[in-house]
Amino acid sequence: MRIAVVGAGVAGLTAALALQRDGHDVRVHERAAHLRTDGFGFNFWTNAGSVLGGLGVEVPGEPFDHMSFRTGGRHRMTMRMPAPGYPHMNVERGALLRAIHSCLAPDTVQFASGVADAAALLDAGADLVVAADGVGSLTRPDASKRQRTSRPWAVWQAVIPTGGDLIEPGGGAIVLGRRRFYGLWRHPNGELCWFVEEPSLPLDATAEEVLRRTASDEDPLVREVAARTPVASLGQWLARDRRPTRRVIGDRVVAIGDAAHPMLPCIGQGACTSIEDGVALAIALRGRSVPKGLLHYRRARLPIATIRVATAHFACTLRRPSPVATAIASTPIGIPFAWTAGAWLRRMNRADRRLVSAATMT
Ligand SMILES: Cc1cc2nc3c(=O)[nH]c(=O)nc-3n(C[C@H](O)[C@H](O)[C@H](O)COP(=O)(O)OP(=O)(O)OC[C@H]3O[C@@H](n4cnc5c(N)ncnc54)[C@H](O)[C@@H]3O)c2cc1C
Repeated sequence: MRIAVVGAGVAGLTAALALQRDGHDVRVHERAAHLRTDGFGFNFWTNAGSVLGGLGVEVPGEPFDHMSFRTGGRHRMTMRMPAPGYPHMNVERGALLRAIHSCLAPDTVQFASGVADAAALLDAGADLVVAADGVGSLTRPDASKRQRTSRPWAVWQAVIPTGGDLIEPGGGAIVLGRRRFYGLWRHPNGELCWFVEEPSLPLDATAEEVLRRTASDEDPLVREVAARTPVASLGQWLARDRRPTRRVIGDRVVAIGDAAHPMLPCIGQGACTSIEDGVALAIALRGRSVPKGLLHYRRARLPIATIRVATAHFACTLRRPSPVATAIASTPIGIPFAWTAGAWLRRMNRADRRLVSAATMT
């Protein structure tokens, strides 16, 4: 089958790899002139790592299996995050994209090749178009409909060359303050990746302002991280979400990844879900016509995406300053809260055995 994939993000590259391994003739059209090596670090949970590992991709990054939960300026409890399968990793977006890209057949990705709509690719002979062009997708089946995305959710993030020593090997830390939420992760080579979300801060706040507030936080760990962070390394990322709809499939067009289900980053599953999508699509097309395969794909993926988008939205809502958030951040209520959140996270990031074995079989 001739398959045109639009977008060389994690969703598009993984779909291309899985479909290529199944013998399809795949071409990826990427608007940018090269892989997007800018960006940030993210949590890459075992559900995605196990699938990519099955496809033979070596996921670059720093493994972790526990997190320190801190409130009121001190460590409160350790959240154990055992990974039944491939380890959870902290990865850097560019390194991950390069790792997947290097497993594709040469010249699979055509750079500087923006696509304005899916019809042009179908007219040019594609049997199927995979819209993997992110949250602002022009090629998803319902692209002509108004996108009802949520308000932007701002995350400030930095990767700094020193600071890995502040977190023990295999660990990470989340810090819940009354107005702010921080995540701190080790990256390879002694680097530290950290982010802060402060929902009450205006979107046009400056990096200087954010770093100044971080430097005066009540938590000594956070203050130390701020002291080691050059202001130029702190960047703002905006995330939005949108409720996934049945229209993720159309006539020989399917949307995957953020094009289908952009989600807020509060459970760290956007990229992970996008990776699962790519392999699930390849499985759905095995031995089926395109229309039947797409129906099968939608049945398998729409419920999962819907639950994850809703869970991430709810998790972000809890992080907004409110009497509840203040109580969680400053009283012992925080401990059962963290325990429950950890249990939910473990449930969300469990690897789907059918996807992993199907990926391994390609
Ligand atoms: C601050 C932040 C933190 C996050 N943390 C995590 C986390 O911890 N864990 C996690 O799993 N996820 C996380 N995510 C979510 C994750 O980054 C996304 O879900 C993921 O990158 C989506 O991948 P994608 O391939 O669908 O889209 P994208 O990464 O947006 O890729 C789309 C690609 O399509 C290309 N493109 C766009 N339009 C066109 C066009 N018309 N023609 C051709 N090419 C086009 C773009 O150039 C791009 O390369 C986070 C997101 C944010 C913002």
